[in-house]
Amino acid sequence: MVNNDILYETALRQFDAVAEILHIEDGIRERMRYPKRSLIVSVPVKMDNGKIKVFKGYRVQHDITLGPSKGGIRYHPNVDLKEVSALAMLMTWKCALMGMPYGGAKGGVECNPEEMSQDELERMTRRYTTEIVQVIGPDKDIPAPDLSTNTQTMAWMMDTYSMQQGNTVPGVVTGKPLLLGGSRGRAEGTGRGVAYMVMEAARVLYKDLRGLRVAIQGVGNVGSVAAKLLNDQGCNIVAVSDVSGGVYNSKGLLIPYLLHHLRESKHVAGMRDTDPITNEELFELDCDVIIPAAIEGQITEKNADKIKAKVIVEGANGPTTPEADKILQDNKVFLVPDILANAGGVTVSYFEWVQDIQYYFWSEEDIQRKLRGVMVDTFNKVYALSNKRGIDMRTAGLMLGIGCVAEAKKMRGLYP
Ligand code: GLU
Repeated sequence: MVNNDILYETALRQFDAVAEILHIEDGIRERMRYPKRSLIVSVPVKMDNGKIKVFKGYRVQHDITLGPSKGGIRYHPNVDLKEVSALAMLMTWKCALMGMPYGGAKGGVECNPEEMSQDELERMTRRYTTEIVQVIGPDKDIPAPDLSTNTQTMAWMMDTYSMQQGNTVPGVVTGKPLLLGGSRGRAEGTGRGVAYMVMEAARVLYKDLRGLRVAIQGVGNVGSVAAKLLNDQGCNIVAVSDVSGGVYNSKGLLIPYLLHHLRESKHVAGMRDTDPITNEELFELDCDVIIPAAIEGQITEKNADKIKAKVIVEGANGPTTPEADKILQDNKVFLVPDILANAGGVTVSYFEWVQDIQYYFWSEEDIQRKLRGVMVDTFNKVYALSNKRGIDMRTAGLMLGIGCVAEAKKMRGLYP
């Protein structure tokens, strides 16, 4: 299980190091270290067996300097205040880096969604939304899907909020079903962005994408979409894994069949023409690109040195510890950091919110063109800064994101 204390300390250490490089003045630095607002709520739910169970829910708004706060809601047994606070901070830097008029937030409920029925999940979502209703809204804080939440979760959240307002408010959450004001391209947004980042990394390092051997940890919404798009581009997806383990084929997995297998049996294990591997083995494979697209804390000082791939593109939030980062840098691994690599999701969320507010919807083509534009532009900015200063891509990305928030804070001044 991932240690949330470490995740939180990591977020602070990363911030402190970058604040030092940027010479951010003490007062502003201090204000940026802590969340603006943290809410802990009890979420009582009548379970299917008639008993009442009280879950713990959270919503942390790290910063709102550039606009309303934005970030996902996760349902996971590991959710706590530290995890949500660390991820909210990452969202602030991510939104600023991508040039969006948002601050960062994150929320979640400590629960095990795999053991809950749809009805229980609906009741929990509606009660959680009600408990945080005062702090969310299209101009305040806009939730979205994250681990184990999806379009249905967002539909329930939007409905609950709207019923309490007395009118339909599509812009209160993003990642909704298309019919309810969702955006084309949102569900694939994160995976598509990850694929674009692999393409960019290949462009600057290898020149050719075709034949690159890619291993992906996690085949959820992010990993499976990236697998499909990269396979279409001529990459060989040699391994994928999920919580139950992974599958490997040195010649490349048959991706259409993998997706079919996943729909049928929910897990990758047992897919035909593959050898079973563990999640640990996936990171040690002889391959060119690794995409950690599961949860945080997967690349650590224990396995970083064993990584043979020359490129890592972080589909998940916080998959690499600072100790591992250092080892990877020493080994000259080119790492596209989470706040850039997985920003395709929140970027299309931003497009969704803009469309909702205007009640005017864009074509799939428009979305993909704009998403690619933003992702590639930002990659180029981060890459240029990393080359200019001789620093890694994570530090460069954080410098741009954190620098932007610090400058805005300075311009706004301190109230009163
Ligand atoms: N949960 C996603 C993330 O970590 C998306 C957030 C959003 O769309 O607001 O970036």
